[in-house]
Amino acid sequence: MLKVVHSKVVREAALNRLKERGVTIDQIADIVYDLQVSYKPDLKKELCLESVEAVLEKREIQHAILVGIELDILAEKKMLSEPLQSIVETDEGLFGCDETLALGSVFGYGSIAVTTFGYLDKEKKGIIKQLNKHDGKEVHTFLDDIVASIAASAASRLAHKLRDDEEAEQDQEHAGNRFSAHEEEAG
Ligand code: MG
Repeated sequence: MLKVVHSKVVREAALNRLKERGVTIDQIADIVYDLQVSYKPDLKKELCLESVEAVLEKREIQHAILVGIELDILAEKKMLSEPLQSIVETDEGLFGCDETLALGSVFGYGSIAVTTFGYLDKEKKGIIKQLNKHDGKEVHTFLDDIVASIAASAASRLAHKLRDDEEAEQDQEHAGNRFSAHEEEAG
């Protein structure tokens, strides 16, 4: 029977792959910050970092990272067969499988993640823009979309978390007010 790969091995491999390809959690968090700060001007970067780290714990994302980066590397080494080699190497505009692979991993974070992914695909912010430059020998046909999907998922997760925090604060305030009114009444 074939051995099942442990989650820890997959997680570590995916995180290492990202690092080896020059993408840091900090750079992805910068995109998340940029996406969310207009909704919350006092947003702290740490919350964006935390959200990116949480998204990277998901198996769907880890698998997409492994598959996408593997194909980029094989294309760089000219090890794919034609015509796929040329399609991936030149980042052919109508290819679409790079976006589809990345899109598959944002669904777990709801509609905000899906629409944000589409936005980042068009706008190519921060490190995504750098990856999409096509200068030099490196191929990042899949990686730019993978980074967009991590950032989009992290931004969506953060948007929901910020609302939850806000509501918890309001609930606490209401409970506090009720308590003081009660105290006053009781004298
Ligand atoms: Mg791409």
